[in-house]
Amino acid sequence: MIPAAFDYERAESVDNAIELLSREDAKLLAGGHSLIPAMRLRVARPSLLVDIGRLDGLSTIHEEGETIVIGALARLHDVANDSLLREHCKVMAHAASLVGDPQVRHRGTIGGVVAHGDPASDLPTVLLALDADFVVSGPQGERTVPAGDFFRGVFQTALGPQDVLTAMRVPRASGTYVKFNRRAQDWATVGVAVARMNGGVRVGLTSMGATPLRAAGVEEALASGADAKTAAERADEGTSPVSDLAGSADYRRHLARVLVRRAVESI
Ligand code: FAD
Repeated sequence: MIPAAFDYERAESVDNAIELLSREDAKLLAGGHSLIPAMRLRVARPSLLVDIGRLDGLSTIHEEGETIVIGALARLHDVANDSLLREHCKVMAHAASLVGDPQVRHRGTIGGVVAHGDPASDLPTVLLALDADFVVSGPQGERTVPAGDFFRGVFQTALGPQDVLTAMRVPRASGTYVKFNRRAQDWATVGVAVARMNGGVRVGLTSMGATPLRAAGVEEALASGADAKTAAERADEGTSPVSDLAGSADYRRHLARVLVRRAVESI
């Protein structure tokens, strides 16, 4: 379908984008791989698209002390292939390499993935497991939102209508992301992120509820010395997966237990 009529402005800076977003129903456009399909289906009808895709300085990936800062406009292809991430936070690079297909990874930005708030998205789960911080600029200035407070519901995040996500800060950590999907370029039926950091193991789940979730029961069991198989039995505690064409809720619960065991055993 053809999108409803909209105006278009190319932002010259983050401040300019914030200002342009003051118009009612204005929306940011980054890689367009979530927003444009939604507009074509007319589930999104922005009055104005504020294009931030070409803003300078928001696509770098660099070290800042012990953390790695990933600019919101970094393309998924660049996240997947970045040498810093591959060496010090391989779980991010690996998960990015599993998103969609090469076209999606070359156009889609990590900021767009996170801001979209899709519970079937891979990288939000990894960022939650890593306890990442999100840097947000808005009309009141800059603030930092921990990943645990960022995802609020299906397609709902802590971002306000005039907020621009500018970067994510991730720690150095070992870990992995395991994704089960029916076809290579599909979203995860279930995905599991495991990160070893600060002397413990953190586990995140994709497609097991309205937001990316922590598998708190698994984390608790591992901290008490349980082996991967025993801990994984608690993978679906506190989850609320849906039934859809990709799988029933019960099947997702089963998958979560299997994938958590595999992921924990592999790190
Ligand atoms: P856009 O579409 O430009 O924006 C998405 C939303 O975020 C919009 O609401 C926009 O206003 C907002 N936004 C964008 N940037 C910012 C910002 N910096 N600050 C605040 N708000 C912002 N995802 C997966 O996780 N796994 C998959 O396997 C997968 N497969 C896919 C397959 C296909 C065929 C397609 C089309 C998509 C797939 N996706 C998958 C989703 C894809 O990864 C994301 O849609 C895309 O990368 C989002 O980034 P974008 O830059 O294109 O965002």
